[in-house]
Amino acid sequence: MPLVCLSLTARTIAENLAVLERYRDNIDLAELRADLLDPSETFALRDFPSLAGLPCILAVRRKCDGGGFLDGEGQRLVMLAKAIAYARPDTSANYAYVDLENDFRVPSIEEACHTFGTRIIRSRHDIAGMPPDLDEAWSELALEPHEIPKLAVTPKSAADFATLFKWASSLPSGERIVVGMGEYGMPSRILADRLGSCLAYTSAIRAGLPLAAPGHLDPLALEETYRFRELTRETAFYALGGGPNVLTSKTPQLHNAAFKTAGINAVYVPLPSNDVSTFFSALEATGARGAAVTVPIKESVCASLARRSPEVDDIGACNTLVREGNEWVGYNTDAEGFERALLEFLGRSDLRGLRATLVGAGGVAKAIAHVLSNLGASALILNRTVSKARILAQRYGFAYGPCTEHSTELVADHADIIVQATSLGMEGERQGDPLDWYDFSGREAVFDLIYRPERSALLERAAAAGCRITNGWKMLRYQSAAQFKLWTGLEPPDSYFS
Ligand code: NAP
Repeated sequence: MPLVCLSLTARTIAENLAVLERYRDNIDLAELRADLLDPSETFALRDFPSLAGLPCILAVRRKCDGGGFLDGEGQRLVMLAKAIAYARPDTSANYAYVDLENDFRVPSIEEACHTFGTRIIRSRHDIAGMPPDLDEAWSELALEPHEIPKLAVTPKSAADFATLFKWASSLPSGERIVVGMGEYGMPSRILADRLGSCLAYTSAIRAGLPLAAPGHLDPLALEETYRFRELTRETAFYALGGGPNVLTSKTPQLHNAAFKTAGINAVYVPLPSNDVSTFFSALEATGARGAAVTVPIKESVCASLARRSPEVDDIGACNTLVREGNEWVGYNTDAEGFERALLEFLGRSDLRGLRATLVGAGGVAKAIAHVLSNLGASALILNRTVSKARILAQRYGFAYGPCTEHSTELVADHADIIVQATSLGMEGERQGDPLDWYDFSGREAVFDLIYRPERSALLERAAAAGCRITNGWKMLRYQSAAQFKLWTGLEPPDSYFS
């Protein structure tokens, strides 16, 4: 099982030690990033391991390797020498490891490390991309059998991640560290064991320290959300594919908690992927058993599936993939999740006799239109790009219009339920209210699919006018529960519903 290493990035030793204390029970070792310390603090480097009271790595990362050290190599050499010199007989008072780059081969430092029992991590950091030849890069790092080779690269796509994963997982066994940095490399931190890495680096995000490297997770997230210490090479892998927004999705908490409750050895991890072919290459490389799919590949993925459920064919969008034999089969659980959440919200069993406005005509709006039609509502579809509203509306015999004040009367005529299904107002996206030109009467039931923030600008306004409101959190839970059932064949645990 890989060890969990906390990379400490505070400007003082005292602050690093205080942060370390918060995480002591959740980590196995600490990396002191001496390149980020105030210059006056470097005098105290030598004492850090005995103060920390757990095995420590010393790293003085240069700017060109993604660190903060700007001075020359001479000064770096002096800093390293001071930190590892005067070795103590009690080896726990010495650095257990020192990170030395592949192009930093200084015999006196190496000799001192060997003598004092400090292991060398021989590293290479590619902060701008992937090396053209991973084998060649590795062979330079793995020259000395007593050193631990470390390759940290920056995948720029899910295809790069697939290449890295396949390459690392086929290396012969042996102590090593392979890391994918950045958003596309983030899954490698959770799947460290599958890549054969002997440790996983983390940052003290919850303690407010700067990230030590892009894509780091907090040790508590690694443990609480991903059950890192329980993952093995046998753990079944499920992915969340889509744009980089997947990294902030709440669904890893939902699915991983459910796997734990149900006693299933599986993990669900965001796998950023902007196009379908690179996503599939990453699914194949990792041997994924299933996936959730979101914007921007929810619609384009349909053409690449061996089989599709009738809902996917009708809706034209797919949010769930299941590996059946050697094939990928597509399902849509957005529709099921929305239907259940909507009927619960309204306290009804269908929508016959009701008039609804659907705002948006993207991937999820297609599932909403399908549900509104199935439940018997008459609906109006508004969208910024009117042609998309028209195409969707015509499929179900609904009205359509632009998402502007020119549609005020149309909305007033379809105002029993208003469903907001655009990304406008979502945390991390452009803030706004797509209906800012419409005055709520207070009689509308307003369902905004956005759940972060808890109350969008539109919901705030609707609530102030006296409308009944709900956000997309329950829908997300219900559609996730349906995914669990498709992936495992089991009834979803209560954790999805409470
Ligand atoms: P999508 O396929 O990218 O569609 C985006 C929609 O938002 C389109 O209708 C688009 O209009 C509209 N839009 C984007 N920016 C806009 C702006 N600045 N002004 C006006 N309209 C804008 O995304 P999606 O998958 O349908 O998801 C839409 C939203 O639903 C997201 O916020 C997502 O988080 C949420 N969602 C929630 C759940 C849940 O379970 N609660 C499930 C799925 C999705 P154009 O067509 O003109 O570009």
